[in-house]
Amino acid sequence: MNVKFAGLDIGGKNFTVIAGPCSIENEDQMMQASNAVKTAGAHIIRGGLFKLRTRPDAFQGLGRDGLGLVKQVKQKTGLPFLTEITSASQVEMLAEAVDFIMVGTRNMYNYDLLKELGRVKVPIVLKRGMSARVEEWINAAEYIARGGNDKIILCERGIRTFEIATRNTLDLAGALWVKQRSSLPVIVDPSHGTGIPALIPGMAAATLAAGLDGVMVEVHPMPSAALSDGAQALTTDQFSDMMDKLKKLGEVCNRPVYTPGGHQ
Ligand code: PEP
Ligand code: MN
Repeated sequence: MNVKFAGLDIGGKNFTVIAGPCSIENEDQMMQASNAVKTAGAHIIRGGLFKLRTRPDAFQGLGRDGLGLVKQVKQKTGLPFLTEITSASQVEMLAEAVDFIMVGTRNMYNYDLLKELGRVKVPIVLKRGMSARVEEWINAAEYIARGGNDKIILCERGIRTFEIATRNTLDLAGALWVKQRSSLPVIVDPSHGTGIPALIPGMAAATLAAGLDGVMVEVHPMPSAALSDGAQALTTDQFSDMMDKLKKLGEVCNRPVYTPGGHQ
């Protein structure tokens, strides 16, 4: 089932692009990133408030203190906003504050959280668990759907394999397998899927060419200063180049990467 929101029809003919920094850090960083990705043609802005980091001494996100920046970005850009939920206690607050709630890879198996998200109307972007089989991923979506929320977008973000040249192994075939067997839109996160900026545009192009529904990528105005995932962030210029290529490829593949506002 397509997810329709604010003129977007995710899972429909158009290819959807979600972009923004891994974490919301401060006003300058967030406004620069948001303005740049909007200008380049992104449809949804992302930014993490609550971060689940591998190391406990790493930046954990601004949490509630970042909600004002979310509001500001939404007002100034007019674009929908996506953020990650890390606990069922945040459901009400985030359902009010953002337009898309993301379940990250570490919570795909958190069935209590998924059940809670079945009770809200906000569309959910459900990432694949880093060790989840595609069947388990589909079952996780079913937990949300059974609660009554059918606005679910699946997001492949790479899985753990023996290969360590890339941060994760991006399973595009698995994503397409799911797309062909379920009625849900399937998007791809080549940022976490590869961990390497130089690989991201190619994997985004492959996502579009394969017939998947969109991409989510991390973009930072100054990746070297990022408080999380700087090593995999695209600069705003790199993102803009990637968008130019995706728009051209979209014409060839009949998957328009349109610009908000109606023109393509
Ligand atoms: C993210 O998108 O910033 C993130 C934490 O992703 P994942 O859950 O896929 O690691
Ligand atoms: Mn990240």
